[in-house]
Amino acid sequence: MTTDSDVAARAAAAFSDRYGGKPDGLWAAPGRVNLIGEHTDYNDGFVLPFALPERVVVAAARTDAGWTACSDFTTETVTFGDVEAAAPGAVTGWAAYVAGVVWALRDAGFDVPPARLAIASDVPVGAGLSSSHALECAVLTALADLGDLDLPIEDRPRLVQRSENAYVGAPTGIMDQSASLRCRAGHALFLDCRSLEVEHIPFDVAAEGLAVLVLNSNAPHSHSDGEYGARRRSCEDAARILGVPALRDVPADGLETALKQLDDAVVRRRVRHVVTEDQRVLDTVELLRSGRIREIGPLLTASHASMRDDFEITVPQVDVAVEAALMAGAYGARMTGGGFGGCVLALIDADRAEAITAAVTSAYDQHGFTAPTPLVAVPSPGATRVG
Ligand code: ADP
Ligand code: MG
Repeated sequence: MTTDSDVAARAAAAFSDRYGGKPDGLWAAPGRVNLIGEHTDYNDGFVLPFALPERVVVAAARTDAGWTACSDFTTETVTFGDVEAAAPGAVTGWAAYVAGVVWALRDAGFDVPPARLAIASDVPVGAGLSSSHALECAVLTALADLGDLDLPIEDRPRLVQRSENAYVGAPTGIMDQSASLRCRAGHALFLDCRSLEVEHIPFDVAAEGLAVLVLNSNAPHSHSDGEYGARRRSCEDAARILGVPALRDVPADGLETALKQLDDAVVRRRVRHVVTEDQRVLDTVELLRSGRIREIGPLLTASHASMRDDFEITVPQVDVAVEAALMAGAYGARMTGGGFGGCVLALIDADRAEAITAAVTSAYDQHGFTAPTPLVAVPSPGATRVG
């Protein structure tokens, strides 16, 4: 068995420590960062994530009955059987992400193999880089292989979404699972969240002497609080008033007409964000298709302004980070992820990562914020067997 990274080696070692013997295999799924297209997923629109090198690795083996999981995230080992796996909510806490995948697979009619799982990860948790989906996607990939399940890649994101929505109880869209499962190295994933069609868009930043710097703002981040639900409801209400299935159906050149039909100033701002953000994704894809990576910078920055002023999902920490990164020479910068904290990404010259991190750190210092945590995000492959 090959272990091609520290994380994989840790998962294999944890398996042997906890259960004895060797796992049948190792499966990995990455965290993701969304290059552009925020809060467009549940509006049936467009997103453009790419996978990180950071990932969750599951060392797993078949067993006789039930499921047992441990993780380096916690000292707890959790066991559950058919009863809990049939009842959304029966397993809570971190292990709900494991039980949810078992539930979603069984609910879709698959004969899920009983298994022991040992999990290791270097995806930062709760930073908006989707550690939860990386975990679910790694578990799904492991169980699908262990059970030899006939489960085409196109069908996998929906199953993981059901796990997170219906078992864990988090109302997330379809982007994160799609990215973790389907991304390719050196590419971003252009995903149509309505048709679920994907196109792999070349995004080899290193080849252009560029890098994507991701700074965790270290401001508290939560998807499950009321703000996410409120934004979602505003968008759905607006679509109903406008008589369209989803805001994706309002074209950029129909925006002004649409806004005139909406009485509420807040709802108008929400709609303007979604419609212009979809267009920015399309414009970014066009530029990347013709290799003009640097030129996407202004679109990233415009996306941030739209999230700050129209969708109102930023916090001072991310606004300060974007401003400081731009002042220090980034081509463009924006908050990435659901909002209210999380990470900022900046498109930069590859040799400027330290200088730009220092500039943001210094700005944070002046504001009395906890220092940001940097990570250089290299577009990486999606979920796969690694040993
Ligand atoms: P994120 O933006 O990182 O996805 P979430 O709050 O959605 O933030 O998910 C974080 C939760 O996912 C953790 O609190 C934990 O329950 C679970 N999780 C993430 N990574 C792991 C891991 N390696 N092992 C166990 N649970 C994990
Ligand atoms: Mg999550």
